[in-house]
Amino acid sequence: MADFDAVVIGAGCAGSAAAYELARAGQSVLLVERGNFAGAKNMTGGRLYTHALERLIPDFRDRAPLERRVTHERITLLADDAGFTIDFASQEMKEQGQESYTVLRAPFDQWLASEAEAAGAELICGIPVEDLIIDSSGVVGGIVAGGDEITADVTVICDGANSLLASKAVGARMPLPVHMAVGVKQVYELPADVITNRAMAQSNSDGSAWLFVGDCTKGHFGGGFAYTNAESISIGIVAGLEALANGGEATVCQMLEDFKAHPCVAPLIAGGKLVEHSGHMVPEGGFDAMPELVGDGALIAGDAAMMCLNLGYMVRGMDYAISAGQMAGLAAAEALAAGDVSKKGLSRYRDWLESSFVLKDLEAHRGAPEFLEGFDRMFDDYPKVVRDIMNGMFVVDGLSGGPLRDAVMPALKSVGIFNLFKDAKGALKNL
Ligand SMILES: Cc1cc2nc3c(=O)[nH]c(=O)nc-3n(C[C@H](O)[C@H](O)[C@H](O)COP(=O)(O)OP(=O)(O)OC[C@H]3O[C@@H](n4cnc5c(N)ncnc54)[C@H](O)[C@@H]3O)c2cc1C
Repeated sequence: MADFDAVVIGAGCAGSAAAYELARAGQSVLLVERGNFAGAKNMTGGRLYTHALERLIPDFRDRAPLERRVTHERITLLADDAGFTIDFASQEMKEQGQESYTVLRAPFDQWLASEAEAAGAELICGIPVEDLIIDSSGVVGGIVAGGDEITADVTVICDGANSLLASKAVGARMPLPVHMAVGVKQVYELPADVITNRAMAQSNSDGSAWLFVGDCTKGHFGGGFAYTNAESISIGIVAGLEALANGGEATVCQMLEDFKAHPCVAPLIAGGKLVEHSGHMVPEGGFDAMPELVGDGALIAGDAAMMCLNLGYMVRGMDYAISAGQMAGLAAAEALAAGDVSKKGLSRYRDWLESSFVLKDLEAHRGAPEFLEGFDRMFDDYPKVVRDIMNGMFVVDGLSGGPLRDAVMPALKSVGIFNLFKDAKGALKNL
């Protein structure tokens, strides 16, 4: 008999959700986390779309450590000396089931893991899983951690981006540089009222999500972000690994320093106290880079399975991880109850994912990674084009100005009208 019915590797969004469902179903479950506490090593931009959490823990609004509800969306095209911002606010974003909140992973992940514990899961922290127990026919039968073997009928692999264990369990190839990005983030503490004013929010419970494209990654694939928390602002850069390797002098840390000093960005964090600096990988390969999700005795969920989407105007991974983790936990519990934890017995997990938003979204945007990787004009030319048009419209120097056409046409011609149409068509199709 195995030590546990199930062992879950990683107490991030996916792992704690899986452990929560397994424990609720009455299975004995061990949740193993390498950090000294859940969330210790985790990072996000970040904003959580809460529909997934609502399905897992319907009364989360009363209990989860949420920072601010996002009521303003901002996107800025950033040239080196200018920024063009779209600011969007809508009542629809506030409606239950459609709202999103900013979160900080240390408190959020500790809370989610504590929910799994309260449901009956056993959590151990500070122990990295070193290996999987795999028999000669490829069946996964537990983990090796801290030099000990711990056996389990089902192993749920939720160890996040660049998962070594997923590749051991189902033979997935390690992600290519073109499928990965690196994120760096800093958190600046500020008084709640100051943040509310800077976010143009109505109260200290509301805030903004702000994405930047262009000069923040020195014209290469990637972007900047700023999210308002209750009493801090998270600000950072995500840059494609391949673009970074081939993209010249700037390091991602230098990009962040320059980004924070940009005149459009600096006022947001002015006077703030730096309290946190972190870095993390983002799996951006999308649907076509996903591994097998089910093996004999094993399931893979969240970033470990590349369930993450970066569309430039939106970054998502936490809601996918929570729902995939939930489905993995439920499928594992059903398979355990039926006494069949083979790949076939666990395959309901894949079926549920296919009929859910997780795989539907990732499949619908399967062209996005390749399109964005080759969309250099978005990261370099277009922010400058928009700056030139806006300068033509709004800068008045007392000399005679021509009609709008004189500001717009030269700027558009600098990138080529044909390229504009081609890019618009590509963006509409893939993003
Ligand atoms: C810069 C950045 C910005 C982002 N912004 C957003 C955003 O705004 N909104 C959004 O929805 N998503 C965002 N994401 C993506 C999102 O953070 C991830 O998709 C999500 O955290 C995935 O959850 P997970 O549980 O799969 O993995 P993780 O949260 O990474 O959890 C994996 C866990 O496994 C543990 N672990 C790893 N290896 C082992 C081991 N060997 N043994 C034991 N434990 C192990 C880790 O310590 C960790 O706790 C962002 C990501 C980054 C990096």
